[in-house]
This record gives sequence, structure tokens and C-alpha cells, in this order.
Amino acid sequence: MSDLLLDLSQKPQFKRVVKTLGLPVPTPPMLARNPEGYTERPLAGEQVMLYSSESSPLAQAITDAVTSTGAEIVSASDFDAETKQRFKAIVFDAGAIESTADLDELYAFFHPLMRSISSSGRVLVVGLDPNHAETASQAAARQALEGFMRSVAKEIGKKGATSQLLWVAPDATDRLLGPVRFVLSPHSAYVNSQPLRVSASTDAPELSLTESLAGKTVLVTGAARGIGAATARRLAKEGARVVCLDLPHDQAKLTKVASEIGGDSLPLDLTSNQAPVRIAAFLKSKHGGVDVIVHNAGVTRDKTLARMREEQWNLALDVNLRAVEKVNTYLLENDVINEHGSIVCLSSIAGIAGNMGQTNYAAAKAGVIGYVRFMAKELAGKNIRINAVAPGFIETRMTDAMPAAVREVARRMNALSQGGRPIDVAEAITFFGSNNSHGLTGQVLRVCGGMMIGA
Ligand code: NAD
Repeated sequence: MSDLLLDLSQKPQFKRVVKTLGLPVPTPPMLARNPEGYTERPLAGEQVMLYSSESSPLAQAITDAVTSTGAEIVSASDFDAETKQRFKAIVFDAGAIESTADLDELYAFFHPLMRSISSSGRVLVVGLDPNHAETASQAAARQALEGFMRSVAKEIGKKGATSQLLWVAPDATDRLLGPVRFVLSPHSAYVNSQPLRVSASTDAPELSLTESLAGKTVLVTGAARGIGAATARRLAKEGARVVCLDLPHDQAKLTKVASEIGGDSLPLDLTSNQAPVRIAAFLKSKHGGVDVIVHNAGVTRDKTLARMREEQWNLALDVNLRAVEKVNTYLLENDVINEHGSIVCLSSIAGIAGNMGQTNYAAAKAGVIGYVRFMAKELAGKNIRINAVAPGFIETRMTDAMPAAVREVARRMNALSQGGRPIDVAEAITFFGSNNSHGLTGQVLRVCGGMMIGA
């Protein structure tokens, strides 16, 4: 799907019309991406401004994580605004922020730097999790970081730059490396304005910074097209053996994706009663089990509630939510999911903010969030993680089906003023699938460019 407004704005005869109407147009440069898989030093040759206080319990972990990206670390005392220096990332260690009085440090550090973020740059704030606060002032100060980070995201989006927050549990500082590398790298291009909670809920497996899924078996549902196909391809780049599942009538497309990446194709309707048994049998017999499951298959059956037929309600719930539940339950009961496994479920911004004509779909996608949060606690003892990815507006067949005017507005309603691509969601899924996110479970990560709607 092409971006109509962007295409028109490039044509001289339409440039003035677009400008007169005051329509927001994405500002080049476009977002920097790297769909080619993880590299050892994703920020080699770049400069990162890092603020850290000696009294912060996070200082060493953050410095190690940023250093591992290959970036040159610059400190605030070396910054000279006159030189018009640009930073690929600006990282603030908020580990020493203990009360609301300390929040002035945010202003003091960021204010002189806000014009120094490069295009497709990053702002990252890392702080202690407010859920572990011991005083009201500590809780307020830690929570304040979210409002700050989200507002910064809206101010720097014009540059294709993004802002994120990592909240760390006091016993999980050793889990920061993977999340810091992800949010600072081009792999998080369309993730914007997102807080993530890093915890030590599960054991820490070995990290592999590159080829992060080598030798792992991954199941991707809905893999014949769109986000699912992009995810299967992206996971294969990390060395995974991918089992691609989709409806039997899409077998030709499915086989094409699977053979392109040397994976398997499993044509199957997820709503059939036999689906869980057939999936389990295939994974056990062919691969001895599964390491990562991506519940990506989804459908919309949009109608306002008064006009919605019962089968439209049912299908949206069956595919988007109940199939996820049934397949997981059966695979868990039959020990098909390997230790240190990871389950990734696709939610949606509609499940967070609601949407006209999508009561069925939004209920299902909100249900996915409730399911993931509950199951994270259930599965921690088995060392299995479960997370949700909630895409915003992504250019696929699903959004192609929207009326043109609605589509045009929807793709602009985020800080980056553009729709995301299937690869952007695939990147978030790959991150949750790999051990590099071993401190993350029960999380909902939006891939929405920093949408103006929803929490
Ligand atoms: P898509 O329609 O392009 O692909 C979905 C795939 O799921 C299709 O290949 C379809 O055949 C398969 N599928 C549907 N029902 C199935 C069943 N019963 N059994 C097996 N396979 C089945 O959609 P997409 O845009 O790539 O979306 C992928 C996921 O992301 C979905 O869960 C969707 O709800 C979610 N999502 C997408 C967007 C977006 O903007 N595109 C936004 C939010 C959430």
C-alpha cells in the first residue's frame, strides 16, 4: 500500500494544495531501519550522550549496555551547544531520582540538548520501577518519567526520532542489556513513546547478540502474508527454524514464504477443533517441541454493534482470542513448549483505545492483553515468558480494507506522521522471541509510532 499523501506531496502540482490544506506530511528523512538481523555493534561510529549519576544503582548496567552497542559515549560536561553536535541517542539514567524534587534534573539535562538529537535518533530514560517504590514521593517521581518520555516523543517525532522508558525492578539491573540495545537500534524504528518494565521474573538464559534464535523452533500463525510473513522472514534471519501456519486456502502463499526461508508450512484453520492437537503433533514429531510461538493470525469483521451478525462477533473472538487460549493450553498441558520458551501474542491499538465498528475485534484484542498479563505470572515458574505486541496503523491488507479517508487520517495520527510497515512489528516480535528480552514478561509493547490515541 503506498502512502497517498506522501506521494502527492512530492509532486510539484500538488505540493501547494497539500500545504494550503495544512495536511501533515512525514518529514524526510524516513525512519532508519535494518531488517537484516542483529549486529554485534549496531551503533558503531555513532555518538551517544549519556547522563548517569554515581549514586544510581543502574549506572554500571546502563553504561555497559550502551558501550556494547559500539557507540562512543559523550558526557554532558563535554557538550558544547555551539558545535551543533548531533547524537544518535540521548540516554538519561534516572536511577538516582528519589523524590519529586529530583525531577529538576530532567530539565537541567535535556533542555540544552533537545536540538541535538539526530534524525531517527533516540531518547531513552531508564529508571527504577514505581511499583517497587518505598515512599509516595519516590513513586510520583518514578511515574513522572512516563509523562516526560511520552511528551518528548511527540516533540521529536518530526525528525523520525523516538523516545522510550525502561522501568527496572531493583533485582533486574542485569537484564538491561537486551532492552537498551533494542530501543537504541534501528530495529525499534516505529516503536515510540513506550514504557517497558524489566523484571527478574524468570531465570536468565544465555544471551546471543547476533543469530539470536539459532537452532530454535518458532511457530508463526497467519504467516502467509502481512505481518506474519514479515515476522517469519525476520525470525529466519536470526537463525530460527520457522513453522509457518495459515488457512488451507492460502496454501500457495504460505508454501512460498516457508520455502523462501527454509521453513515448514502447516496449512490449518485455527478455529477447527483439531487445531491444537495437530499443531502439537507437528511440532513434537518434526522438531521435538517449540521455543517461540507467535500468535499472529487475526481477522476483522467490522460492523457497528447494532448491525453486527452473531457469526461476525464469533469469528473475531474465535480467531483473535479463543484460538490463542486453546492452542497455548494444549501445548502447555502436553509439554510442547521448551524451557526458556517465549510466547508472543498480537493485540492491537483497538484493544487499548476501542474503535467504532470494532466491538468484536477490540474485545478480543483487549482480552489478549488480560490473558498475557495473567499468564506471565502463571508461566514464570516454568521459565516461559509471554508478551503482547499491539500494532497501531500498519500498511497491510487489513488496513488496506479501510475507507480511503479514514485510512489517510489513521496513518497520520502518530508522532511520526506515517503508517508503520510489517517489518516494524516483526522486529518487536523478534525481540520478544529472542533471549535478549529475558527481563520482559507480561508486557504490552505498542508498535504505533507514538499514536495520539489510547493509553
Ligand atoms: P492480514 O489479514 O494481512 O493477515 C492475517 C493472517 O491471518 C492471514 O494470512 C489470514 O489468512 C490468517 N488467518 C486468519 N484467520 C485464520 C485462521 N482461522 N486460521 C489460520 N490463519 C488465519 O493481517 P495483518 O495486518 O498482517 O495482521 C496480523 C496481526 O496483527 C493480526 O492479529 C492483526 O489483528 C494484528 N494487527 C494488525 C494491524 C495492522 O494495522 N495491520 C493493527 C493492529 C493489529
